[in-house]
Amino acid sequence: MLMPTGGGKSLCYQIPAIVRPGVAIVVSPLISLMKDQVDALRAAGVRAAYYNSSLEAAEARRVLAQLHSGELDLLYAAPEWLMSTATLARLHEIASDSQASSEENGGDSRTSGIALIAIDEAHCVSQWGHDFRPEYVQLGQLRELFPDVPVMACTATADPQTRVDVQARLGLADAPIFITGFDRPNIRYTVVDKHHSLEQLLTLIGLNKGESGIVYCLSRKRTEEVAGKLAAAGVSAAAYHAGLSATERDRVQTAFARDEIDVVVATVAFGLGIDKPDVRFVCHYDLPKNLESYYQETGRAGRDGLPAEALLLFGLADAAVAHSLIERGGNADQVRIELHKLNAMVGFGEATTCRRRVLLGYLGEPLAHDCGNCDVCLEPPDTYDATEHARKALSCVYRLRQGFGIGYVVDVLRGSGSDKVFARGHDQLSTYGIGADLSKDAWQQLIRQLIHRGYLEQDIARYSVLRLTPAAMALLRGDETLVLARPRVKLPRAERKRAGRARGGPLGPDTLVDVPVELREPSAAEERLFAHLRTVRKELADRQGVPAYIVFGDATLREMAARRPGADDELLAVNGVGETKLKRYGEAFLEAIRSFTQTEELDTP
Ligand code: ZN
Repeated sequence: MLMPTGGGKSLCYQIPAIVRPGVAIVVSPLISLMKDQVDALRAAGVRAAYYNSSLEAAEARRVLAQLHSGELDLLYAAPEWLMSTATLARLHEIASDSQASSEENGGDSRTSGIALIAIDEAHCVSQWGHDFRPEYVQLGQLRELFPDVPVMACTATADPQTRVDVQARLGLADAPIFITGFDRPNIRYTVVDKHHSLEQLLTLIGLNKGESGIVYCLSRKRTEEVAGKLAAAGVSAAAYHAGLSATERDRVQTAFARDEIDVVVATVAFGLGIDKPDVRFVCHYDLPKNLESYYQETGRAGRDGLPAEALLLFGLADAAVAHSLIERGGNADQVRIELHKLNAMVGFGEATTCRRRVLLGYLGEPLAHDCGNCDVCLEPPDTYDATEHARKALSCVYRLRQGFGIGYVVDVLRGSGSDKVFARGHDQLSTYGIGADLSKDAWQQLIRQLIHRGYLEQDIARYSVLRLTPAAMALLRGDETLVLARPRVKLPRAERKRAGRARGGPLGPDTLVDVPVELREPSAAEERLFAHLRTVRKELADRQGVPAYIVFGDATLREMAARRPGADDELLAVNGVGETKLKRYGEAFLEAIRSFTQTEELDTP
């Protein structure tokens, strides 16, 4: 089953697990993810547990006892534990108990047996995928070991090669495939040229004040650097990467889940384990390696269906670094695949057509219309004829005998008075100073575009000197013109109000997308009641030591604020409220709504 992050993937095994007799085994790669899901299930009154290396001995024994006595509907497990000889023996016993008891009781096997096996994050089994985990390979034996138990594999990674590989490796080649739409219309995609990146990030955070966000960086060092700068600027932020101690990682993750930290600056190590539905923005501070990872990481924003932002700070310099790192890799096939993926990533960053169309097209699900909720749709980029400037740059590279890097070429173009230029006599070249009309940044940007478009190449082995490619000749001769998008470094619509994001404003009647109910404009009173319900939720959550969204998600609170239920049955009609939660929290929220409405009436003359 292929479904985007936040699409309701886990429901597809949780509901059958509850309905079918016996226990469902859910294979999950990450301890924190298991804990999160189990907490949420228990809060909803479901008999769920997890088993992994983080459990204390006593707790582990308790879970096994529950498993054997048929007290569980769902058991989450790490693949290495599941595939151990001891566990497999246990599961066989449970599976055969079920057959025996169903013969005795005339088919009633509600208390025992294995309901199903679900393999979550199934792309981890494939080397084609971007997140291969060797411990997943063994899961291929499950079909043979338990031929009578239904097995399902779920992933949010769509690319067709991975898909085929997962099926083959898990012995599910003949299984039906279910694919739901990958589009997440509530996420707004924005790409800006990376320039004074910290300020760009601070602008984004300012637009989402007090909300949860994730910032992705490529290196551990960078996460700490950026988190430090954000903290210095007064943002509640922390770094997260695999180099931190388990205790510190746990602390950051829990504090983020409980809204005690707003922004986590992380390497990709963060996120797989996070199930927080109300992340309002994801920013890629560095260029991701491929669109699959990018899509999955941005998918961690807005899982509750409310408006969310994905911002990519797009630096062609980052692309050049990534390119050279890949080329240093050994295996020629791997290098080819990774370069192909990087080029697609850069293509997305440079797109002058709807971002979502580029993204979904790449993921094999082309969109037939413009999305109306990306930067290109909202503010189409300016394009300009760059032919003349490109020719100047190319001929300057040629005059410099293809022996210098970007910085020096720009110096000569702009007529720099530096000693080096004079000492080499380059102030005598015909191209000296012919580019004084453009800033240094603008020239660098242009030259990077020329590299990316294949007019120039950088000789990585020789200090990254620039060389002309055969394609450059057509441009130099005047047989070809070059149209480029004007670099954009400001966040578009930076002036818009937070509440106006995607609600109302940009998603007007002209756009072709369906506007989900959650995206309509709430009234001021509704916003105030929503804020009030959030504080009620936070108190309840803190008292129980769970993240706020375990109590109720933002979408549920929004609906409460809009409908103002006055009694139990009205509250039950709100999405996200079931019998268990009604019993546990109903009174507190009904009371909060009642008192808010009264105060409001008193305030109105
Ligand atoms: Zn668009």
